[in-house]
Amino acid sequence: MKPVYLDNNATTPVDPRVLEAMLPYFRGSFGNAASRNHSFGWEAEKAVETARDQVATAINANSKEIVWTSGSTEGNNAAIQGVAGMYAEKGKHIITCTIEHKAVIDPCKWLETQGFEVTWLEPDSTGRIHVERVAEAIRADTILVSLMFANNELGTLHPIAEIGAVCKGKGVLFHTDATQALGKVPIDVEKMGIDLLTMSAHKIYGPKGVGAMYARRRRPRVRLRPIIYGGGHERGMRSGTLNVPGIVGCGAAATLALQEMAVESVRLAGLRDRLWAGLREHLTDITFNGNTQHRLANTLNVSFLYVEGESLMMGIEGIAVSSGSACTSASLEPSYVLKGIGVGDDLAHSSIRFSLGRFTTEEEIDYTIERVVKTVDHLRAMSPLYEMAQEGVDLSKVQWATH
Ligand SMILES: *Cc1c(COP(=O)(O)O)cnc(C)c1O
Repeated sequence: MKPVYLDNNATTPVDPRVLEAMLPYFRGSFGNAASRNHSFGWEAEKAVETARDQVATAINANSKEIVWTSGSTEGNNAAIQGVAGMYAEKGKHIITCTIEHKAVIDPCKWLETQGFEVTWLEPDSTGRIHVERVAEAIRADTILVSLMFANNELGTLHPIAEIGAVCKGKGVLFHTDATQALGKVPIDVEKMGIDLLTMSAHKIYGPKGVGAMYARRRRPRVRLRPIIYGGGHERGMRSGTLNVPGIVGCGAAATLALQEMAVESVRLAGLRDRLWAGLREHLTDITFNGNTQHRLANTLNVSFLYVEGESLMMGIEGIAVSSGSACTSASLEPSYVLKGIGVGDDLAHSSIRFSLGRFTTEEEIDYTIERVVKTVDHLRAMSPLYEMAQEGVDLSKVQWATH
């Protein structure tokens, strides 16, 4: 079996149709989109504007409201720092959530060191923020609410339209990191009251290092202080020579994602359910992390009790997934997202995120079930904890000897 890729929430392969659209812009049409006085520049500019229309259409925005970025990390920084820089006189209070992506958490933490106050909302045990919590947290000095559309580890969806309506009602700007949601669920910035939105091409079968930020131009007009100054590209909001092939790829990817969403989300939900049913059929002591109702079709996060996530990943070598323990050099910290929804350290360490994608097949899912089941059985057979649990010992009551 070829390697199986079930880590599409980390990144996706470039769709061959996207690559095809990009290629001319590396070769003959290599112009600088800011070159105003020759055809090379005009051609590049035309391609960039077509892509801008494509991204705008995917979220029901106007193309004038799209700013090109290098991806969602930059987009989230540009949105959050941009609002903070421009509206500090109105207020210095920001609302976000403890299980956002680091690209939202870290700029917010940085703002805390700059005199801003951040309310860190806690999600429920499924990873969802309730609109009432947002409404309660808004104060007279609140300038921004930033909440992700869909969580990258759990797939849980927040009630975005309801949150947007509350923010509109209170005159607070609403930013959403839609990196995981675009192309998977319908997005409409008008209907959902979204003022700022960030997306990234490489999560939707486009190239890495390019993305877009939507910033509303009317009712209200969002003003942003740029984080990158330079030649005044993108109406001064984001200077730097545009990545024309990347932008063309981003536009093409957005169009494809939109076209295929309805059919693809049904197909992916079927495969995800097949995976979960297959695991449940053959394994006991596994738990689902996330929300069974409000969720992405492609994401399945599972804890395998008595099994170390990292060992499981090694055991299913050749199947690419993510585990709940970020195995960084020194620390073995379990996922802050799982901890944030109240999953204990041991269960967080035993969790695996399967994220399916456009190129995932039924055969790959069946193969994954087989390999995971075999590996979990094997690891449990070697685990003294599992043996004790099977004998009826309540592990939470065991007094472990310490040295
Ligand atoms: C991947 C991801 C990001 C970061 O996007 P880049 O384009 O890789 O910088 C931000 N937010 C979420 C939810 C993501 O999944």
